[in-house]
Amino acid sequence: MITDSGRADRWEKAFDRAWKDPSKAARMSCPSCGEAALNLVYVMLDPQSIRGMYAFWCGACLIGLAPGMGSVPEGAFRVRRGEEQVPNYRTER
Ligand SMILES: [Zn+2]
Repeated sequence: MITDSGRADRWEKAFDRAWKDPSKAARMSCPSCGEAALNLVYVMLDPQSIRGMYAFWCGACLIGLAPGMGSVPEGAFRVRRGEEQVPNYRTER
């Protein structure tokens, strides 16, 4: 059986994989529901910055990792702040 803390840990690991190769994020399976519907978006306050606010969630079950600031990996999907279309997803704890 997978505990809730185990799921949160799996989200952290999924984020690491998606960060290393953002082009693969959409084909990775969701740590919570198993669907291949993950989204990784960087919301940029300054589009030239190397840091942005990430949002990482599953479009099928609307569960994801709590947003945070981090460096933007090569090839990541970026949007300007105010133009993002990030749903109000829940997080695993
Ligand atoms: Zn899911």
